[in-house]
Amino acid sequence: MFVEKSQAEFKAGATAAYVPQRTLKTSISCTGVALHTGAKVTMTLRPAEPDTGIVFRRTDIAGRGAEIPARWDHVADSRLCTVIANADGVTVATIEHLMAALAGMGIDNVVVELNGPEVPVMDGSSAPFVFLIECAGVLAQAAPRKAIRVLKPVSRSNGQTVASFTPAHDGLTLDFEIDFAAKAIGRQREAFLLTPATFKAEIARARTFGMLEDIPRMREAGLGLGGSLDNAVVVNGDQILNEDGLRFDTEFVRHKILDAVGDLALAGHPIVGHYHGVRSSHAHNNVLLRALLNDPAAWTLEPLRPGVHAPAGSAAAEAEQRLSA
Ligand SMILES: [Zn+2]
Repeated sequence: MFVEKSQAEFKAGATAAYVPQRTLKTSISCTGVALHTGAKVTMTLRPAEPDTGIVFRRTDIAGRGAEIPARWDHVADSRLCTVIANADGVTVATIEHLMAALAGMGIDNVVVELNGPEVPVMDGSSAPFVFLIECAGVLAQAAPRKAIRVLKPVSRSNGQTVASFTPAHDGLTLDFEIDFAAKAIGRQREAFLLTPATFKAEIARARTFGMLEDIPRMREAGLGLGGSLDNAVVVNGDQILNEDGLRFDTEFVRHKILDAVGDLALAGHPIVGHYHGVRSSHAHNNVLLRALLNDPAAWTLEPLRPGVHAPAGSAAAEAEQRLSA
């Protein structure tokens, strides 16, 4: 079970009239390969004060210019992976699977140190980051968690690509549809209510994927140099090239949901609403997020009420904490 916090800490959180913000109990590091540059990179997740949010820090760059907040208005590029930049042009790439893990596990405040320009790809899913979070442990903080409540429908489409938000009473639900020409993928649809338990069991392990025919073009462009069957599902028509096959029958659409969790985490707060994606991408999810947040009538920021389903705000998640305390 998810190792959470001490009994005393839990009681303090349980009697509070709000859902607490959460950070890590201790710092934790990992080393891995960067998907696009192929370089080895070390990442350290550090606990952070309430209201810090998720902030990336490039330790290979001196001075104040090395910090980059993980926010929707800092997204510089999202064609292949999500790249964020600060005012000095310092960037961090491939943040989406780590962002998904932090949001999925209900972590509000963390400083992510990296000694290079890209988050390590690990196995192409969020599972290794979930493992790191669980090893570090989670600490409830004495500050209320706030959520962005969707107040009216917001939708953006581009040809057959559609992404939308509609209001929901409770929590964030994600409903995603894909339709690929490759027979090994085809049409898939899944929908989940996001809680740490659901994220860990149904979403986190789904790996990124690509088509065999796209690999030479990516390599020529100097991208995907760290990519291999160890960190992506590779599809060729009706074939899966990975020896061990898939982790779920619908691993592809589950990974698109994982990506959407990471993309929507750039809102800076959990979202209470219903998300629907049809063939949506990192870039299109960011278009939707900007459309929502740039319309003051479409949302409101409010303290998350105890019992509302959102990562670590749900009755189920609180019960889970109680069991493991
Ligand atoms: Zn992805």
